[in-house]
This record gives sequence, structure tokens and C-alpha cells, in this order.
Amino acid sequence: MRRTAVYRHDLFLEHQPGFEHVESPDRLQVVYEALDKADTGPRLSFPTFAAATPEIIGLNHSPALIKRVAETAGRRHDYLDADTQTSPRSYEAACLAAGALIDGMQRIAAKEVDNAFCLVRPPGHHAERSRAMGFCLFNNVAIAAQFGLARMGMKQILIVDWDLHHGNGTQHSFYGTDQVLYFSTHQYPHYPGTGSLFEIGEGKGEGFTLNCPLPGGQGDRDFHRIFQELLVPVARQYRPDFILVSCGFDIYGGDPLGAMRVSAEGFADMTGIVQELADEICQGRLLITLEGGYNLHGMRDGSLAVLTALSGEQLAPDLPAFQQNLQSKENISADEQPIYLRQAIDLAKSYWKM
Ligand SMILES: [Zn+2]
Repeated sequence: MRRTAVYRHDLFLEHQPGFEHVESPDRLQVVYEALDKADTGPRLSFPTFAAATPEIIGLNHSPALIKRVAETAGRRHDYLDADTQTSPRSYEAACLAAGALIDGMQRIAAKEVDNAFCLVRPPGHHAERSRAMGFCLFNNVAIAAQFGLARMGMKQILIVDWDLHHGNGTQHSFYGTDQVLYFSTHQYPHYPGTGSLFEIGEGKGEGFTLNCPLPGGQGDRDFHRIFQELLVPVARQYRPDFILVSCGFDIYGGDPLGAMRVSAEGFADMTGIVQELADEICQGRLLITLEGGYNLHGMRDGSLAVLTALSGEQLAPDLPAFQQNLQSKENISADEQPIYLRQAIDLAKSYWKM
């Protein structure tokens, strides 16, 4: 049993990226409604939290970008890139989204809660230091990692990114440092074009970026195997102080932007693996934040599955089936290793004992 902080706020529904845009407020609305209906019990808490200040956002972003996004406040609409439109309260929502992660990290570090799930919009992992892109204004997870290093005395942080898309912004923020290990699974080649196997970090950061580019069609068993055979051994050696997860539900089977086949059970499974890892190497400290996910069933069921796995509170009624799936995963390593996994492990061997 764990105490899980859940971050939600109606301001996240106020960011309007444009008519019929896939990154719509409905994505969170369905999750919030499901939470309202669920019997959430005492393990879940819903903390109040403040927006991240420009100074905190500035730990990861240039003053020029912060100024540019701030200028959009109050404007009916503005374009930051071809896919990234704003509405009058987008800047406020973006600051509050980053603030949710900061608050969550602090409550976890203070042992007020064990872990956290930030159900925020706009998403963040494509935002570069000086550029908003790909539906992302500020890079929430990168700001949180910078805050952990600069203000919370952490020495090393692991970021796990299972969104369908590669988190170019996050990778670039920490490309030259060994203080953040960035691990990403993503459909490839696909938007935004980065995330090849051979992007491994540079200088002191060489070996601390770990990409596992994937062909479409990967499901629960495949992600389970990648996590067990690639992520877990590397993370055990890295021994971070904290684990942050960029959680995209766009790897859900039926997502309009992707070709993966992960089910709600798969999201619970991945969350379980990362939580177990956190228990083993960093006193259970784990914060998961929402990135993409454009199928509303995937958003709702995936979120409930993640929360069930984080808290132990049974929020997703379908999850008993998950136990059976897990058993069927026991023999997974007897199957032939897929070529993408073999290649990623071979490359990781240059830096880690595998
Ligand atoms: Zn995505």
C-alpha cells in the first residue's frame, strides 16, 4: 500500500490548442470524470499546488522562450509552431503544469506521499530549451529534473519516457551530463525525427542517453521485455536519487497518432516495473507525468491503470485480467529477442554491464 498524490486542476482544461486539435481538453476531462466516479479511497490525495515561477522554468528554458510564451497570455490565439497553438490561459496552464511536478517531487522527498501522478496539460517532452514545439510549451519533466539537481540536492535522476514519440527536448536538455540518464522507447522513424539508437549523449553525458527506437506494432509483452532486459539492468547500476516518468498513452492500441498496441494492463505493468525499480534503488521515489495520448479510452483506462499500480488501490475494474497477462509474460525471455532490443542491448554494453 502506498500513498499517491494525484495532480489535477481545471486550469489544465483551459489550454485550447485550436479547433479539432488532437491535444484537446477532452483528453484530461475523461480522466477527471473517471476519477470523480471512482471510489478513490484514502491512498490517493489531491494536493493543492502553485505554478512554477519563471525563475524555476528558467532552470531549463531560455529567457527568450519564457518571454515568448508569456506574451501569449490573454491573446485569443497565437502560434508557437505549426502544431502548437495557444489560447488566453495557456501560459498560466503551462506554468501550473510544471508546478505540479515540482510540488510532487517535494512532497515525495518529504515523505508526505510515496509517489505521484501529474495529470497535466500542456505536455512537455518536445519543448527545447529555446523553442516550444509538438504541442509542448515548457518541458515539465526536464524542469522537474533540473529542479531536483539544482534545488533539492539530488545528484542523479533517471527519466523514463514511454511516450510514442521521442522526447527530443528532454534528451537535448541533458545530452552532455551524467547527472540525468534519459531512457526512451518510441516509434521510429516518426515525429520529431530524433531518437536513433546512436544518439547516446556526448562528453560527460556519453552513455547516459539510451534510446530504444521501435517499429510499430509493439504490445504489452514487448514493452515488458524491453523494460526488464534493457532498462532495469542499466538503472540498477546507475542508482538514481529519483525516477521521473514521461507517460504517453499514445502507445495504446487504437491511438490515432501511433501504431503500438499497449493495453491498460500494459501501462499498469510498466508502472509496476518502474515502481519496483524505484523501491530497490531510490526509496521508492517515483513521479509520473502525462505527456501524449489521443485515444480517449486509452487516456481514461491507462490513467486508472497507472494509478492502480502506483497506489495499490483497485481503480481499474478490468485489471484482474492483467494478472493473467503477467503470468503469460513469465516465459517471455524464451522467445527470440527482437532485433531492435538486441541492438539496443549491444550498444548499452559499451557503457553498462548487461
Ligand atoms: Zn507522444
